[in-house]
Amino acid sequence: MAPALSASPCEPRHPEATPIRRADELATQLDDLEDPLAFDVLVVLAKAAEIERAAKALGDSELRLRARLLQADMWQREGQATAVASVLWEVNAWTAKHDHRALRARSDRLSARIFYALGDMAACLEHAVSAVQHLEDSAPARTRSAYLMALGGALNATGSFEQARKRYQQAERFAVASGDVQRQLAVLNNLAYSELEAGDAERAWEVVQGLQTVAAEHQSELNPNYLDTVAQVQIAIGRYAEAEQAARASIHACSGSWEQEVDSLAQFMATLAVAQRHLGATAAAQDTLDRCRLLCDERNLTKISVQLLQEQAELYGACGEFERAFLTHKAFYAADIELISQQREAQARTRQAMFETAEAREDAARFREQARHDPLTGLPNRRHLDEHLPAMIDNAERVGVALVAAVIDVDHFKRVNDTFSHQIGDQALVVIAGLLAAAVPASTAEFPGFAARTGGEEFLLILPGIGPKAAAPHLEALRHDIAAYPWQKLANDLTVTVSIGMTATRGDIVPSALLARADELVYAAKHAGRDRVCVDPELEMG
Ligand code: GH3
Ligand code: MG
Ligand code: MG
Repeated sequence: MAPALSASPCEPRHPEATPIRRADELATQLDDLEDPLAFDVLVVLAKAAEIERAAKALGDSELRLRARLLQADMWQREGQATAVASVLWEVNAWTAKHDHRALRARSDRLSARIFYALGDMAACLEHAVSAVQHLEDSAPARTRSAYLMALGGALNATGSFEQARKRYQQAERFAVASGDVQRQLAVLNNLAYSELEAGDAERAWEVVQGLQTVAAEHQSELNPNYLDTVAQVQIAIGRYAEAEQAARASIHACSGSWEQEVDSLAQFMATLAVAQRHLGATAAAQDTLDRCRLLCDERNLTKISVQLLQEQAELYGACGEFERAFLTHKAFYAADIELISQQREAQARTRQAMFETAEAREDAARFREQARHDPLTGLPNRRHLDEHLPAMIDNAERVGVALVAAVIDVDHFKRVNDTFSHQIGDQALVVIAGLLAAAVPASTAEFPGFAARTGGEEFLLILPGIGPKAAAPHLEALRHDIAAYPWQKLANDLTVTVSIGMTATRGDIVPSALLARADELVYAAKHAGRDRVCVDPELEMG
């Protein structure tokens, strides 16, 4: 503990000089602790709490809030987004009132980290830019490097690869100027990762070699994060055996005190599994995946769990188990859609807590609404369905008109992806979504019908109020419109058809039973040759 912190402000002999020196000392301590590269969360939390107390005793709000932000930064790394949000709210209110640049820079920096973790890259970029703009001229080169590096990451995540590269280069210059080798390594690591995400494996490999050279020149070990980057880049350029070694080294080094993010170890294990699969060591890869999945369950790591599904599908494929590969792939798509929806919920909550303004409340409402919609097609998603279907079934029973439910599954969609591309596949889904939405009769009723995207290439139409007899030809017309759509606009030789399974409520059937029945019928339509509507034979069509 620093002696300056333990003394009370009344004790020193030179009362005028001391508070200034002590404020300086606290600021320096904060400079050293902020944007840390290697740290122990508990130690930083304890030091930050101590600085907060000392700053409070000095009556220095800026330092006190900087210390609060530092604690919030640690909480963020531990996944406690809500606690962080309330600190940000406090800091933002103070910063706005006092028009305080330095603090604004730090709160923006932390906000950028939070939005990055929440997957809201546009908001992340907004804050990362603002953080760099507000950073005071006197900020240490090391800090400036960290802020520029964060901006590089945000630009990369929003697809501005060229701009990102420029910021990383600036960040590296400041890191070199600061003489902080660890900072330089961090920049190189992030740059390599960005190149990889931008799809330029060769460039990423060059950066990784630079990273290894700088580390070797300074007799510095690569930390587990950097080893993981090395492994991922090696996988991308086909150096699988070296990648496996690097991945093992990252897992080995990721013990106890090093682990800085709750999902680090799981991420490293996922990388190892990929390397093992490429090496043909499928049993070992499966074992790694299983252990990683357990870890994800233990720690509630949703994002990596979803990533694991994708890798599991690849692994089944590598083992020749194509049926399981296919089913797991489907499960991955569904889980990925659900993850985006969950992220949007979390974004809404965080925004609400961060800015208690009317504008933020509107933002939050918008995000909440978005959480109920599929980002690709804009259609309502399963969450919307789960929230609305029960009341719609009740209502249908009350007014005595059956509620029609139709599952629409695109035919041979895998072929569309394989033959044309995933992008063309996505565009086709958007067109189908538009045709489905247009097939919902306009209504001012309390419970209007809707089209939803319920899975990768599966949709659902809910048609209240028209009854099965009218719905059947309506769906037949829809099927025809989809098949007759000028698909060549998207790609030469592209054709798309759908299979439709239609059922309707009878009495107070539960939503899951209604949907399961429609699923059975779509399966029957597939079986009968696809591109057709299969109507529930048990329905009364009178
Ligand atoms: P079937 O006629 O039996 O339905 O054949 P299918 O190929 O459509 O098979 P299935 O429903 O069994 O496969 C769905 C495929 O849809 C798998 C996956 O590659 C693809 N897919 C799922 N979600 C998306 C997405 O969001 N975009 C794209 N482009 N493809 C997706
Ligand atoms: Mg399907
Ligand atoms: Mg299909």
